[in-house]
Amino acid sequence: MTETITLTIDGQEVTTEAGKTILEVAREMGKDVPTICYHEATTSNAVCRLCVVEVEGQRVLQPGCIVKAGAGMKVQTRSERVTRSRRTILEMLSSTMDLSEAGDIQSMMYDYGASSSRFPDAQRRESDVKDDNPMYIRDYSKCLLCWRCVQVCAEDAQYTFAINFEGRGFETQIATFFDKPIPETTCVMCGQCVGVCPTGALKPKREFLLESGKSPAEISVMNTGKKQRKPR
Ligand code: SF4
Repeated sequence: MTETITLTIDGQEVTTEAGKTILEVAREMGKDVPTICYHEATTSNAVCRLCVVEVEGQRVLQPGCIVKAGAGMKVQTRSERVTRSRRTILEMLSSTMDLSEAGDIQSMMYDYGASSSRFPDAQRRESDVKDDNPMYIRDYSKCLLCWRCVQVCAEDAQYTFAINFEGRGFETQIATFFDKPIPETTCVMCGQCVGVCPTGALKPKREFLLESGKSPAEISVMNTGKKQRKPR
């Protein structure tokens, strides 16, 4: 028989199967708990901390994506402390990296009243665009280290292990081993990392070229070395 538990989220009592995370239960109730690092295709790791919630009796905010819902818990998903924490995380992100193509995160900033100018002296993470393969580009000035790409390239999907974290602290970034160009790694160009990137740091090469002003005909020549035939 399935074990059930009863807890309270935002003052509403809910009975659910044991073993679910607070995030899962809250979302099943229709609560809007934001996440960046968590994606339905990846294992949750509590990297971004946007999903934090307040649990009565706990000293610190709890990451909802990994903490299991427990019997008798009293959880707040939008308390003042929770919203302040989420707003500050968003403000720190926007102060240090390029979120111009991260539409979901921009919506979160709007929802939480986050200001991109809160930390004007913050050092920005800058990086040249890496354009070393025919399938996708990597622009790590847009990377917030959510880890989704590493996860899908590894045990969550592809089992290819072409990319991982490199460096420490502020210098941490996603890279290939020994920073080799993508064609010299185990990458099989499956595109799964591109598919889960939330910020446009990984982007299909064709999209990148079109945005750079290249025409479809020019891109075709670049890909095949042949001119496109005119339609009859
Ligand atoms: S495209 Fe390459 S780096 Fe990206 S997930 Fe696939 S194998 Fe890994």
